Amino acid sequence: MEILPGIHQLKLPFPLQPEELAVNAYLIRGDRGCLLVDTGWNINQAYSAMERQLREIGLGFADISLILITHFHPDHYGLAGRLVQASGARVALHRIEKDFIDSRYMNMDGLLDQTADILRANGVPEKDLPRLQKASLGVRQYVAPVSPEVALEGGEVIGQGPYRFEVLWTPGHSPGHVCLLERTAKILISGDHVLPATFPNVGLHSQSGRDPLPNYLRSLQAIEALDVDLVLPAHEHVFSGLAPRIGQILRHHEERKAAILDALGAGPQTAYEVSLRIPWIVHGVTLSYDQLQALDRRLAVMSTMAHLEPLCTEGAAARAQRNGVTVYSLPGAR
Ligand SMILES: [Zn+2]
Ligand SMILES: [Zn+2]
Repeated sequence: MEILPGIHQLKLPFPLQPEELAVNAYLIRGDRGCLLVDTGWNINQAYSAMERQLREIGLGFADISLILITHFHPDHYGLAGRLVQASGARVALHRIEKDFIDSRYMNMDGLLDQTADILRANGVPEKDLPRLQKASLGVRQYVAPVSPEVALEGGEVIGQGPYRFEVLWTPGHSPGHVCLLERTAKILISGDHVLPATFPNVGLHSQSGRDPLPNYLRSLQAIEALDVDLVLPAHEHVFSGLAPRIGQILRHHEERKAAILDALGAGPQTAYEVSLRIPWIVHGVTLSYDQLQALDRRLAVMSTMAHLEPLCTEGAAARAQRNGVTVYSLPGAR
């Protein structure tokens, strides 16, 4: 689908999971090759879907000269290795995430150990640990890793045909997430930072940085006032109304914080125990923690941690260590 002259949305399927995991990549024509933003998963269906959609606009893989990955999650980066082989394109990723590619997708033992340590220290029962620790290994098969050549910082300008895309560093959903802003065309390629229907997950883990939720809220506020007519997200559909959508996301996190404080009213408890007391929304359905799949359980505990830590910083909650486990409480509670 051509969104503006020379800017195409490519729909890349993920047939094994709900619709939400289908990815929108964006292809922007240029005088010296095309810019591809995000790649989809490393599955044959996505590869051939991209090949077919390129052919429909008279292009092939060899026309891609730069692949910019908005962030290192497997649905955005998964196909990068195969696309580099087919195109010879360079891959650009934020510096922070470029440094994590090896531990996340190539030599993963250290990351698995860190994940288990974090979950254990936040109250996940020992019997549940192996399943939660290894829950993301399944997606590894949908990633063809490649070392990115280009490290982004934010602030770069990429000239592409008549367009000038500014790289905006928007940490939060992931530590090196970037968006692309075209001020004249008034479009924002938003990756997973802002989606029209889903609230992007924000979790605290060994590759998230210390303050993922405060970073995320700041990154939303930083783009709230941009003069943008059209948002091009990596999932779901193109939409207008950036500021109202950001307002909804900010309110959502206020509600989550309120629910967590409410749960703490029951007494001191771990992030895992808080996760048992609050509702979870997965693909639009509200579930209890016990109804979640292993990976969603892990994301739930890490999301609760991401909300609890800033509550401690604000003084709305308190943190203590008991036998190597972090316990949260309302201030003054014992
Ligand atoms: Zn993501
Ligand atoms: Zn995504």
